[in-house]
Amino acid sequence: MNYKNFPMVPRVIFGRGSFNQLNEILTPKRLNINAPFIYLVDDVFKNNSWLTSRIQLSYEDKIIFISSKEEPKTSQVDELVEEIILLTKERPSGIIGIGGGTLLDLAKAVAIMLTNEGEAKDYQGWDLVKNEGIYHVGIPTISGTGAEVSRTTVLTGPHKKLGINSDFTPFDQVVLDSELTKDIPVDQWFYTGMDCYIHCIESLNGTYLNAFSKSYGDMALDLCKEIFLNGDLAEIESQEKLMMASWHGGMSIVYSQVGVAHAMSYGLSYLLGTKHGIGNCIVFDQLEEFYPEGVKLFKEMKQKHNIELPVGICANLSDEEFNTMIDISLSLEPLWENALGGNWQKTITREKLRALYQKM
Ligand code: NAD
Ligand code: ZN
Repeated sequence: MNYKNFPMVPRVIFGRGSFNQLNEILTPKRLNINAPFIYLVDDVFKNNSWLTSRIQLSYEDKIIFISSKEEPKTSQVDELVEEIILLTKERPSGIIGIGGGTLLDLAKAVAIMLTNEGEAKDYQGWDLVKNEGIYHVGIPTISGTGAEVSRTTVLTGPHKKLGINSDFTPFDQVVLDSELTKDIPVDQWFYTGMDCYIHCIESLNGTYLNAFSKSYGDMALDLCKEIFLNGDLAEIESQEKLMMASWHGGMSIVYSQVGVAHAMSYGLSYLLGTKHGIGNCIVFDQLEEFYPEGVKLFKEMKQKHNIELPVGICANLSDEEFNTMIDISLSLEPLWENALGGNWQKTITREKLRALYQKM
């Protein structure tokens, strides 16, 4: 057996209001006055001085506001890298991503692509990145994806939706300040939070499971149950717990994999642009056959928070469109293997996937 040797986020600061210490964290990392810090910030914060007034810009530092309406694309990463090269006299001292999974993934990808030649699409896959990226910091403002700890940045390219998985992808620094998550709309809190719950269910019920993944997965799952069965978004305690659940859920899949819901929701995302959190929920709702207990609990949580999922999103699709989704989904072999074992192709046929998609 040849075991993988994974990097982890080397520095993390946790606590309500820890965002105030950002400047103190970044100052020693400034290379020189011509090498700025570039902040990539979700444009939901554009007119939010509560957050932006605490970003202290010096010298040539810049904030670039980015919409998270659509998930990150390889072409978007290439354009941002181009924009940053034109904006700056020297390579930046650091890239700071502030937002949800979308902004965190963009920050990771931009940091890598500033030091690696070619286009972002060339690096979608496993261990294709050659050079260490620029110092990069992740500051989540919504909890659940685990993008703050993971070794990947998920991008939609011209041919596939696939991460840049590499030892250079994880953040050098993460700031976990749950206060930044206080104003999230309830449905979005639920969808992104359920991403974490689904990571746990898929990891804990997968064939790749081991004691490393199980210990993190168990912790995250217990936290999710406390939050979504007995807590609510408005409580500080729930906000802090979900931040840690997201972290542990992400750690759980470092050494295992996700499963059926992710494999199918990537198909929805690629074809219809369905966003990750809500897409996972739409798929997971139909997966009793694979995760009976997990789905039962999911339905209870959905009911408790009065969440109505969209229905009929696949109602008017053509054969060609179904085939595109099925191709994308089937290409994610490690996810299927984790979910169902080495003989997964016996259970998961194209007809089976089509029948499942037709329910959504
Ligand atoms: P997101 O980043 O798109 O954010 C969801 C919504 O919440 C957006 O509309 C955003 O503007 C809003 N929002 C964020 N913070 C807010 C705040 N504090 N107050 C009010 N609104 C706020 O969605 P997400 O679910 O966090 O991330 C999804 C993305 O993460 C997908 O692109 C997915 O592929 C990626 N992902 C990556 C990993 C990884 O390991 N790299 C893992 C899972 C998902
Ligand atoms: Zn996910």
